Amino acid sequence: MKAARLETEGRIEIVEIERPGVGPDDVLIEVAYAGVCGSDLHSFEGSHPFRKPPTVLGHELSGTIVEVGSNVGAQKALAIGDQVTVMPYIHCRHCAMCQRGHTNICLNKTVPGIKGWIGTFADYFVAPAAVTYRLGPNTDLKLGALAEPLAVAVHSADQGRVTQGDRVLVLGAGTIGLLSGVAARQMGASVVAITDLYEHNLEVGRALGFDSTYQADRADLVEAIRTDHPDGFDVLFLTAGAASTVVQALSLAQRRARIVATALFSRAVTLDLGPITLGEMELVGTQIYTDADYQRALRWLDEGAYPLEQLIDHVLPLDEAQAALEMLASRSQDAIKILLRPTR
Ligand SMILES: [Zn+2]
Ligand SMILES: [Zn+2]
Repeated sequence: MKAARLETEGRIEIVEIERPGVGPDDVLIEVAYAGVCGSDLHSFEGSHPFRKPPTVLGHELSGTIVEVGSNVGAQKALAIGDQVTVMPYIHCRHCAMCQRGHTNICLNKTVPGIKGWIGTFADYFVAPAAVTYRLGPNTDLKLGALAEPLAVAVHSADQGRVTQGDRVLVLGAGTIGLLSGVAARQMGASVVAITDLYEHNLEVGRALGFDSTYQADRADLVEAIRTDHPDGFDVLFLTAGAASTVVQALSLAQRRARIVATALFSRAVTLDLGPITLGEMELVGTQIYTDADYQRALRWLDEGAYPLEQLIDHVLPLDEAQAALEMLASRSQDAIKILLRPTR
């Protein structure tokens, strides 16, 4: 099969590799769309903590089952021809985190792109049936490729305990930021405001129905937001990974606010704990998703309450994986979510 393999930092090659074998508990999926994620970009640029070249990148996908292992069926009703997506990690079931149900932060987690699990930037992808999910009847394959980032947002919003009537500020309107706004709205947020450097991203935010959008590099950003939202915010998402957003969040957070650190910050940040102490705020991390988050994300996708297809601005053939990563790295074009499509 064809695969887009990261050979060294900054260089992807299209290679012919052996199609992975299907174990008794696995399914073989013919990839329809593979989403390019910010973490793929980290690997491409050499800043990913553990996913290093040579490796086939990609963990987001939708596709069709073309083969099932001998045990599948018995444990999970999946069959050839099903349109599916995958929750792309395998947890150990035994560690202290797994035993408490926090499978997302399993101490022995395996993810695509390491330990021989070939990523989704390929014609085919093998996954355990246990983490393979059928798409809902109203979810087409293109939208199905958004299940993974939406599940990230579901978990983030849960970590921020978004509840009815909460005012929410999302600092960074990339895929995860925009979807965090959607997740917050679904959980009852009465106000969703977002910031971003790129007008295109803010435009998509408006299309998703968010209440206010702000250019993140304007000099009077905090004052402008405070003028429109004098009561501050109950839940704030750090979805850009920039130190400036931490300062902004602390100045705009209401007492008892929850600040959710979603983005990976590549550098250490200096934090003024004063407002957190005095305002009884919480700063909480968030890491991927659990089975429950995935089920919820798939349900929301299927309900179709938001025009989420607007996040997908490019669908490129798998052969152009290098160009796709370069486009994201250089921001040469508007790009929120790029999908790769194997041509076979
Ligand atoms: Zn992702
Ligand atoms: Zn574990």
